[in-house]
Amino acid sequence: MGKVLIIGAGGVSNVTTKKCAQLPSVFEEIVLASRTLEKCKKIQKEIEEQYKRKIKVARVDADNTNELVDLINKYKPDLVINLALPYQDLSIMEACLRTGVHYLDTANYEPPDNPHFEYKYQWAFDDSYKKKGIFGLLGCGFDPGVTNVFCAYAQKHLFDTIEYIDILDCNAGSHSHPFATNFNPEINIREVTQVVRHWANGKFIETPPILDENSIHFTFNYPVVGPRESYLLYHEELESLVKNIKGLKRIRFWMTFSDNYINHLKVLKNVGMTRIDEVEYEGKKIVPLKFLKAVLPDPASLGENYKGKTVIGCVFDGIKNGKRKKIYIYNVCDHEEAYRELKAQAISYTTGVPAMIGAMLILNKVWIGKGVYNMEQLDPDPFMEALNKYGLPWHIEEFKGYLPD
Ligand code: NDP
Repeated sequence: MGKVLIIGAGGVSNVTTKKCAQLPSVFEEIVLASRTLEKCKKIQKEIEEQYKRKIKVARVDADNTNELVDLINKYKPDLVINLALPYQDLSIMEACLRTGVHYLDTANYEPPDNPHFEYKYQWAFDDSYKKKGIFGLLGCGFDPGVTNVFCAYAQKHLFDTIEYIDILDCNAGSHSHPFATNFNPEINIREVTQVVRHWANGKFIETPPILDENSIHFTFNYPVVGPRESYLLYHEELESLVKNIKGLKRIRFWMTFSDNYINHLKVLKNVGMTRIDEVEYEGKKIVPLKFLKAVLPDPASLGENYKGKTVIGCVFDGIKNGKRKKIYIYNVCDHEEAYRELKAQAISYTTGVPAMIGAMLILNKVWIGKGVYNMEQLDPDPFMEALNKYGLPWHIEEFKGYLPD
């Protein structure tokens, strides 16, 4: 039982805040704070109508640590759930440290002027969190998040050694827009235009970005939705999983992209709209990618007309009792069902539900410690059980499909 302060009021927060509101015995008090108060009020109103619960709302600039400290001191939460953008991770972690409050997020810090993921900035809080006696849980969404828990589960129950992991993320849904991103457009486009990396034989190997003609992709036959083109992509969970899954020989991350998405993004990149440096426009400085975000559909608004499913999971190849085996663990989530329940699309749903589950396990003192943790460092069992209970059931089967060497 406890009190949470949720920061950010976008697509993911809409899901987490409503899921927390569904569980008053765990989340006794909820405070939702963000930069734009109207967005908090919209979620507040929907919660009041749907669940007859009152939550508090506040305005905060989460880039400003002093403002965050004041907010935390005012409401005295047991846990801060950071669902703003990766740029705010460090200021929010610092505010939690100064006030002695537990911390949870869903995305790895990114330096604004240098788009790449790296955990070193957040792992640097480990010692000070330990000394303060607080718990920081990093990457508690789906990927990172549930994918890390699937790895921990496979390591605990299914294998003596896991040698190969392939994480496969498929969104087979379609919305009514010619081009839109499923989560914050700026963060999404920075992620998918980066140089690709995967890890093999003890080191990271770089390959061309997905828009390059030499990008690496293949057709994977996903359960339920069938064959989809899947592109090798760098994703932040690779960095922690290579440290925490013992005996690994290779780990890769694949994500599906339609030709339509790739073609639009190529044009936008070629004309300079994905640039992150400032350009002069009519006497003002603007960042083209931030301007692009302003004209693209808000991911939180996509749900209404979204149809189809997401299939996200991990294929494990390793040894158990001297024998090689291959196992696939995955979840299927339906855009229309997510909208019916929470007025959300499935990408926000698959991220927001794990954030609620992580928060619940912390408040119930099931997942607790001192220092900064990645998801696979904790016992996967209570989290796996909660996924089935709170809307993200998982499937486990022998893997008989094709993956490239
Ligand atoms: P949105 O852009 O929809 O929401 C972000 C929210 O953060 C907005 O309400 C925004 O406010 C608020 N915000 C931004 N900057 C500040 C600030 N300085 N102070 C206060 N509030 C601020 O993004 P999503 O909901 O789609 O994504 C949220 C997070 O989830 C992101 O970090 C994203 O990377 C992560 N994510 C993780 C996934 C996973 O599986 N692990 C998958 C998908 C997303 P405003 O409305 O004013 O812009």
